[in-house]
Amino acid sequence: MKKLAAFKSLLASPGRVVIVTHFKPDADALGSSLGLAGFLTKKGHQVSVITPSDYPDFLAWMPGNDSVIALTKDPGPEQQAAKLIQQATLIFCLDFSNLSRISNLGEMIKQSGAVKVLIDHHLEPEAFADFEQWSAEAASTAGLVFELIEELEEKSLIDRNIAACLYAGVMTDTGGFRHNNTRYREFQIASELVRLGADPHQIARQIYDTNSLERLRLTGYVLSEKLVVLPAYRTAYMMLSHEELKKFGAQTGDTEGLVNYGLSINNVKMSVLMYDRKEEIKLSFRSLGNFSVNELARKHFAGGGHRNASGGSSKLSLDDTLKKLLALLPEYQHLLLED
Ligand code: 5GP
Ligand code: MN
Repeated sequence: MKKLAAFKSLLASPGRVVIVTHFKPDADALGSSLGLAGFLTKKGHQVSVITPSDYPDFLAWMPGNDSVIALTKDPGPEQQAAKLIQQATLIFCLDFSNLSRISNLGEMIKQSGAVKVLIDHHLEPEAFADFEQWSAEAASTAGLVFELIEELEEKSLIDRNIAACLYAGVMTDTGGFRHNNTRYREFQIASELVRLGADPHQIARQIYDTNSLERLRLTGYVLSEKLVVLPAYRTAYMMLSHEELKKFGAQTGDTEGLVNYGLSINNVKMSVLMYDRKEEIKLSFRSLGNFSVNELARKHFAGGGHRNASGGSSKLSLDDTLKKLLALLPEYQHLLLED
């Protein structure tokens, strides 16, 4: 981190800290937030973690989960969040870098006079923070939190709870140490976290091997009925209506990972999942090699992320969102057919 000395002295006296992460947080978003919260609490700060929405049940085991303020349709948590943000001396934004991605909370943070810190690994961050721990090479935000603690020379404060939260982020954002963002460094960080008490087997089980029967049935349905391959564009896509999600009793997080199946098909270079969240259509993109889904998501679907893993949204109907995607494919065909 640049200006590390100034940051260090900022942390030296107790403050009112708010940690915010992105909409529908995944294990990296929540794990990095709760890991950092554990660390800052140990340093004597008063810390609150706020999420702009709910998140999957398979993340509820994370130490600190019980005190997370998750915004819902109910106005209570949002009022509580507004008050905490107003009173905060220090606000951390983790695992996202565009305040527009957290709707109302983004506005509140913009208005706040607190010192702002960005910890993130997504491409093209918005410049709003006073301090940044940012790297697009880092596979996870949790890894960046670990490195920041290391830079502060306070690794001794990482206990087994903090280590478990951070390990979960490193594990999931590398797809279980499989994606092309998995560097030597990720293994180093992971091994340090295991040394400090994270249990790789337990954490993997809690995140990957705790399916509800409904979720497995939904996966089966998507793979057998909804997966479409377009060989001419080396593209696979899946589309789920609100009715279908309802029929399978889908819960938050149940669609996570579906998009990866498309990318495992021989010769497919891009996989897209589209589903109806009711207030908008959510899109997930994955690609292999040089093909940048970040560019596609940013330019056409108000989103972004990483080169090979991005997300976005659409205000069109589900069918019109598909039409829009299909109409874009010819423009990208030459890139999709490369190598
Ligand atoms: P997923 O497809 O798993 O939801 O997201 C893939 C990656 O893209 C993650 O790093 C996620 O943070 C990012 N991402 C997902 N949705 C959006 C979005 O709407 N906007 C931006 N900027 N990034 C997103
Ligand atoms: Mn992440």
